[in-house]
Amino acid sequence: MVPGLLYDPLYLEHETGRHPEHRGRLETVTALLRERGLWDRLVHLPAGPATQAALEAGHDPAYLGLLEEYSRRGGGFLTPDTPFGRRSWDAAVRASGAAIAATDAVLDGRVPAAFVLSRPPGHHACPAQGMGFCLINHVAVAARHAARARGLERVLIVDFDVHHGTGTQDIFYADPAVLYFSSHQYPAYPGTGGADEIGEGAGLGATVNVPLPPGTGDAGFVSALERVLVPVARRFRPELILVSAGYDAHWTNTAYLNSIRMAATVDGFGQQVRILRDLAAELCHGRLVFVLEGGYDPEALAWSVDATFRVLLHEPVEDPLGPPRSTPTADLEGLFRLCERLHDLG
Ligand SMILES: [Zn+2]
Repeated sequence: MVPGLLYDPLYLEHETGRHPEHRGRLETVTALLRERGLWDRLVHLPAGPATQAALEAGHDPAYLGLLEEYSRRGGGFLTPDTPFGRRSWDAAVRASGAAIAATDAVLDGRVPAAFVLSRPPGHHACPAQGMGFCLINHVAVAARHAARARGLERVLIVDFDVHHGTGTQDIFYADPAVLYFSSHQYPAYPGTGGADEIGEGAGLGATVNVPLPPGTGDAGFVSALERVLVPVARRFRPELILVSAGYDAHWTNTAYLNSIRMAATVDGFGQQVRILRDLAAELCHGRLVFVLEGGYDPEALAWSVDATFRVLLHEPVEDPLGPPRSTPTADLEGLFRLCERLHDLG
């Protein structure tokens, strides 16, 4: 079965000026998918804008109203690093709509898995404040749609972006229906995502953070999934897995965002996606929806998205960028033991 792709040229119209999160990221990805013969093989799924009700399931109406108004007036800055322009509201709302459409397509069995190739990204967007290049939290909007409109009782969000998904954690911190798992560089922007942040109230235990030290490569990211995510997911028994797919842990990203200091490779992203693919097959009929987050070296991003599709298609991954010259081998055993203890694993 062939996976779905959701893409819209409207995403290119989110203007950010001179900024690491620019339209060329998506243009490079779509060009490579075409060049590699993937574009015409995938199931292209249409999507409209998310409804106001769907957006309000993740965000404050007052924040949404201001964002729309300021965007239509020409834009500005939500935070010093989060510019937006005249078309940004429409692009972001369409991206959330695509995450919902992808979720529906997977739940209805029209495609086994789907990838939302969108921008602006979303996982830093909190209920009442966009930040970190993010305006609206598409994965959160899709998870709430799955839970509230489609009646799912358990949705798993896996976030392998190099940054902690502040907004996603915030939105679901007390919600037992949505389990949020994140592996990320720590300490780093935005400062949240310590292992001891595990949710609160009814959601206690449904937030799982694996804070990885700078320099972590594929082995660390893969172990975080195998040692922590897999047992947590087996216990949670999700009916759907949403993925905040950020590829900015790729080792070339340091040159684009100096604070990123990780050593992941295209091949390693393929390994992570293989684990998620197999986990979805085991637990939830293969239902898997990827939503693009970060990834600031356009070429590494393009090959990583290509690798994601290759794994979903059970085809070999190609990694022309290869590994960094040296990968430090930090001892992560203590971290994994801490995560296991905090979440009663093993
Ligand atoms: Zn990121």
